[in-house]
Amino acid sequence: MAQRPRRLGIMGGTFDPIHHGHLVAASEVAQHFGLDEVVFVPTGQPYQKRQASPSEHRYLMTVVATASNPRFRVSRADIDRSGPTYTIDTLRDMRDAHPDAELFFITGADAFASIVEWKDADELWELAHFVAVTRPGHEMEATDYPPERVSRLEIPALAISSTDCRARVRAGYPVWYLVPDGVVQYISKHDLYRRDTA
Ligand code: ATP
Ligand code: MG
Repeated sequence: MAQRPRRLGIMGGTFDPIHHGHLVAASEVAQHFGLDEVVFVPTGQPYQKRQASPSEHRYLMTVVATASNPRFRVSRADIDRSGPTYTIDTLRDMRDAHPDAELFFITGADAFASIVEWKDADELWELAHFVAVTRPGHEMEATDYPPERVSRLEIPALAISSTDCRARVRAGYPVWYLVPDGVVQYISKHDLYRRDTA
């Protein structure tokens, strides 16, 4: 039987907390592109954003959320690297760890727009195929990229964001059904987002 290269999806994110929008996006891309596995990679301390929750909490929530899916796995690569996370470093690490795999970097259309503007963008296109998923309220504005290295995929619209989830917890609203049950329980057990400001 002819062997095709392993196809690995990479889903980077702050995951503060991980929610069903992330999981549906990963699952849809995996189905559409015939991925063997999707690796979720929680970021180190984000440089563009508010102060995020400690990496270890974000990592563990991602593990809890993905544990039941045999094709989902979580990497510590970005949280164990010191300093802010750049997609180029994530992809270089994944390339080193899986030299024979085809890499598919999964990103929301909004996050994709900022990736295009980065330095070293040319190397990004060599390292991975990019899949920009649509997300309610976020249009893809970027135009400056090689079209053969980027696909757009419409996924079922889930207007869920981590920002909203944090705001709900802080206001005492439930996040059941927006995030996996285990993540609801993790948030409550560790009293996360009670005093959050964003
Ligand atoms: P925050 O509100 O804190 O920015 P977020 O919900 O955008 O959080 P991130 O961890 O920043 O979550 O997102 C990781 C990746 O998942 C990004 O590429 C983002 O565009 C994408 N994403 C986030 N929410 C959705 C969603 N509901 N549907 C599809 N993609 C999403
Ligand atoms: Mg975001």
